Amino acid sequence: MNSRMLNSSTLITELSNSHGNTRDYTEKSLLRHLLFRVFLCASVAKIFVFIRLKQYLKPVGSGTNPLRKPPPLPAHLFIILLLSLAASACSQDHDDAFHDQFFAFGTLIDLTLYGVDPATARQASERIEQDFQDMHNSWHAWQASDLTRINEQLATRKTATADDSILSMIAEADRLSLQSNGLFNPVIGELIALWGFHDNPLPIGTLPDKDTLNRLVAQRPSADDITIEGNRISTRNPAVRYDLGAFAKGYAIDRAVERLRELGIGNAIVNAGGDLRAIGRHGDRPWRIGIRHPRQPGILASVEIEGDTSVFTSGDYERFFEVDGIRYHHIIDPRSGYPADRTASVTVIHGNAATADAAATALFVAGPDEWSSVASRMGIKYVMLIDTDGIIHMNPAMQARIRFEPETNAVIRLSEPLP
Ligand code: ADP
Ligand code: MG
Repeated sequence: MNSRMLNSSTLITELSNSHGNTRDYTEKSLLRHLLFRVFLCASVAKIFVFIRLKQYLKPVGSGTNPLRKPPPLPAHLFIILLLSLAASACSQDHDDAFHDQFFAFGTLIDLTLYGVDPATARQASERIEQDFQDMHNSWHAWQASDLTRINEQLATRKTATADDSILSMIAEADRLSLQSNGLFNPVIGELIALWGFHDNPLPIGTLPDKDTLNRLVAQRPSADDITIEGNRISTRNPAVRYDLGAFAKGYAIDRAVERLRELGIGNAIVNAGGDLRAIGRHGDRPWRIGIRHPRQPGILASVEIEGDTSVFTSGDYERFFEVDGIRYHHIIDPRSGYPADRTASVTVIHGNAATADAAATALFVAGPDEWSSVASRMGIKYVMLIDTDGIIHMNPAMQARIRFEPETNAVIRLSEPLP
């Protein structure tokens, strides 16, 4: 039996021991475990060679010439036992989950399917990879795509047409934006482009032009400015430009989960660079998910999830550059036009992934003072926010389900329960 430990930067496979029990491994314990295996292999090999040598080196004429006479039965049994131990220590663990990985949305997509026969799993995985590539191509905010065409039409004619699939995505983003009081704002594409977060590499050492930034903020593009009628989308605000970067991964993961269910798959994790949705369970135990530490390599905490649950984290470490020692990262407060500067990371646990993704971004912008009121408006029940002073803010329900790594030693500030 296997399940996985997952976090934003690394994917750490849980290993099973030879008795089929499942263990969780962080990077450190994984290393310890591997060293133990190497040591065990080496010791077994040494003992085996020693036994064989002893037999061959016995003095000639002692009456027990090992070249003609086999070792006594207990010695045989002992050797077989050691060999089987060595085999189990040296071999790969048996893994009855199916894993596949591919790139989409600029990140590694990691698919884990549990309890599915290999042919079905392979087919499902190919289908999901194709879906992801199609969605990525269609929603790209700055390479020619359906979304850039919509943006151009909105800018020039204030009205655009779109097919059902992209319209329902846009409508969902607009709805979540209004719920978040505009802190998740999918129409600040101009502002994000101005910061250069579309560029590769990032514009190190260059800050945006202040006048342009202030003008864009003053125009206040918002989901309120959008009307959708039939297949037509229109706006009265010329500054509206869609950028679905804070929400597209979540929405795509929800579509992938729909696809898995269509294919009859009920136990799976779809993980996009550490943001994920899990369905079902991993055999007789829940999935265990690692939450990355925003300021150190490795994980800060973990949560167990089962049924149908998404875990999304927005962090200031994902995309940033520094000017004069100040970190400018990719999550922009639409009210100021600048990166939200009091939050290091926000983790949200919620049923569907699109809401979790939008909420993680919105609560990041909301920061340590406002996150719980915005979470309530968005119907989010589990939040952990780490501010830039390292203080961990969360609601009591989140505290009840999170398990911190033993070395975590931070001030925890609990909010009132979320409704
Ligand atoms: P990540 O994609 O790194 O997981 P987010 O989900 O928070 O992180 O998305 C960040 C991306 O969303 C940015 O790169 C940008 O394209 C866009 N974005 C930045 N600020 C906002 C905001 N306030 N509302 C909506 N989208 C935003
Ligand atoms: Mg997000």
